[in-house]
Amino acid sequence: MSIIAREITKVYGKQKALDAVSLEINAGEVVGLLGPNGAGKSTMMKIISCFLPPTSGEATVDGFDIFEQEIEVKKRVGYLAEHNPLYLDMYVREYLSFLAGIHKLGKKRKSRINDIIDMTGLTLEQNKKIGALSKGYRQRVGLAQALLHDPSVLILDEPTSGLDPNQLLEIRSLIKEIGKEKTILLSTHIMQEVEAICDRAVIIHLGKIVADDSTENLSKQTAGKDIIKIEFSELVNADNIKKIGGVHTVRNLGGNTWEIEASGEKDIREDIFNFAVGHKISVLSLSREQQSLEEVFQSLTKADRSEK
Ligand code: ADP
Ligand code: MG
Repeated sequence: MSIIAREITKVYGKQKALDAVSLEINAGEVVGLLGPNGAGKSTMMKIISCFLPPTSGEATVDGFDIFEQEIEVKKRVGYLAEHNPLYLDMYVREYLSFLAGIHKLGKKRKSRINDIIDMTGLTLEQNKKIGALSKGYRQRVGLAQALLHDPSVLILDEPTSGLDPNQLLEIRSLIKEIGKEKTILLSTHIMQEVEAICDRAVIIHLGKIVADDSTENLSKQTAGKDIIKIEFSELVNADNIKKIGGVHTVRNLGGNTWEIEASGEKDIREDIFNFAVGHKISVLSLSREQQSLEEVFQSLTKADRSEK
């Protein structure tokens, strides 16, 4: 087991940011810690990385205790903090070299830096100032610093926040690549991110874990909620669409375009086609979206905040 956390509670002043949170992560797993702002994600990650002591509870990383063996834990954890604080005036290679000194990499230093620069796609940027890099490349530097001492566990706090869509895809695929060899716990408030990168999702809300399951199983909870978007060649009556077997709700999206929600697990696309054929109209386009984790997430995290 790479990470074991038991009954972690963190109280800031009067506020309980984490309430007896327990978590186990196996070696090699890529787990998403998912929750809205203020859920307690960063707090949990800082505690596991030994940057913040919990008020109570215990945790180990690769068997090393966060209280008793902080140095051993830090050797095994690569941590990318939220907002990725970097020295903007330093050059990329210079910064990594400086960190290599802190990690006492010794003789391995140069080859390790070269490997990491290569792995994170920073070859062309290595002699640039960090401050001159785009957000996506700064994030690569953040990942490089987290990976430098070859930790077995990576803790990445919102690694893709603030990235544009292209950068986001690049960083996600880089994390996926890294995840083949490391245990990763990453936080995000974006459902698709967990689906795209993680094997498992731990959903946290108001300091408590509200779901912990494989992304596949969580998606299944809402299986049977297929949404079909369809454009017919001609005007169709909503009541007629509703008569198609397995149709739950029908919504017009303007013109001849409709959103149809299926009620069961059956794929109703064929029935819709047959309906069109029967009415002598054509289907101009059809797409199917599965209502996925997003829904589970929303239903699990909409509890009233004022209860607290
Ligand atoms: P998340 O990362 O999920 O957005 P955080 O762990 O940052 O959540 O915060 C959890 C809760 O704890 C929030 O309500 C936040 O305001 C509070 N909190 C976080 N850090 C501190 C702090 N240093 N002092 C007081 N309250 C804090
Ligand atoms: Mg946070």
